[in-house]
Amino acid sequence: MEITRKGFLKGIAGAAMATGLFGRVPAGLAEARETSTATPKQVRIVNLEVFPFNMEAKQVIRIALGTMSAENVLVRLSTADGLVGWGESSPYSPVTGDTQATNVAMAKKLAEIVRGKDPFDIGRIIAEMDAATTGEPAIKAAVEMAIWDLCGKLAGRPVCSLLGNYRDSFETDITVYLDRPETMAEKAQAIVDSGVKTVKVKVGETPEADIERLRTVRDKVGKDITLRIDANQAWTPNQAVRALKGLDKYDIQLCEQPVAYWDWDGLKFVHNNSAIPIMADESVHNPHDAIEAVRREAVDMINIKLMKSGGILQAVHIAQIAEAANMKCMLGCMNETRVGLTAAAHVVLSQRNVLYADLDTFTEHKVDPVIGGMQVKDGIVRLTGKPGLGLDIDPAWLKTLRAA
Ligand code: MG
Repeated sequence: MEITRKGFLKGIAGAAMATGLFGRVPAGLAEARETSTATPKQVRIVNLEVFPFNMEAKQVIRIALGTMSAENVLVRLSTADGLVGWGESSPYSPVTGDTQATNVAMAKKLAEIVRGKDPFDIGRIIAEMDAATTGEPAIKAAVEMAIWDLCGKLAGRPVCSLLGNYRDSFETDITVYLDRPETMAEKAQAIVDSGVKTVKVKVGETPEADIERLRTVRDKVGKDITLRIDANQAWTPNQAVRALKGLDKYDIQLCEQPVAYWDWDGLKFVHNNSAIPIMADESVHNPHDAIEAVRREAVDMINIKLMKSGGILQAVHIAQIAEAANMKCMLGCMNETRVGLTAAAHVVLSQRNVLYADLDTFTEHKVDPVIGGMQVKDGIVRLTGKPGLGLDIDPAWLKTLRAA
């Protein structure tokens, strides 16, 4: 029997659906490529533009690593047919090693890589971006999410469906940043009053000061609110064990990154000596780090961020490595607007093993530049079901930016 090219491709797409993967790319993408009516010439990427921007915050955001501001980059990809894909980088150099300025510089090189490419060749594009730099994960994530946006629009399907829908909604926490215990308790109560049921509390001074923080916050919000904490590497392993022992009575769901990101032995020591589950954040950027976390049995959970992983596909790989190792995951963020946060939301909706979310930074910004995108009510996140990322950029806000 003669096998036609189309029949052959259909067979491959079917096998990919069955196995859940097409090479290293999710099955939905392979299927979308097969069913897309656009010609390769129409879909090829012809332009990558970058718009650096700073977001004014409602308050000073203080964590154990210092203060955080939103100095981000908006990415716009265009196809020959005039289709547009959006992405955002939110670099935080103490963690990701890149900055707005280095992102803009690297974007010139990434523009050369994506120009002329079919967006459905996302695996190849990622490989070429990784070959161009081992760093700059935030701008790689921005370009990659814009490519997913294009793929979804070309396929007429939301990105989460290309990745494999798993759930329709999820809960995000809202974060209380480092401050005096009474101030943190008041802020936590304001978050609860807004309808949110899970609060993330930043810690990372002395164990005694942090125990006092959680005592004050728990007293204020009552026992029905879920509290999770994040030490952002601030404690020594011994301090962490002491702090977590003292914190256990305040019913803490999990503790992110108690010790330095490089201290795998310390992380494992804390994990082995804490009743509170330990989540790696700064220790795990990419799938290689996730393998290391599994191999060392150093943590219970992993906080995945697109700005660390360099994009959606690598984030999915981390979630799947963790799932195979019986480790739960959270999807977190740096200081994205709802562009980057919406991309992260698509990952949460598609991954069975992403059980927690911390996609809250938009609440700290004075301006929201996104039309559509993820919708949040009482801490519950839903997407619109529109193709791609399902968002547009407010044209009036865009006019205030200058392409670099
Ligand atoms: Mg964290």
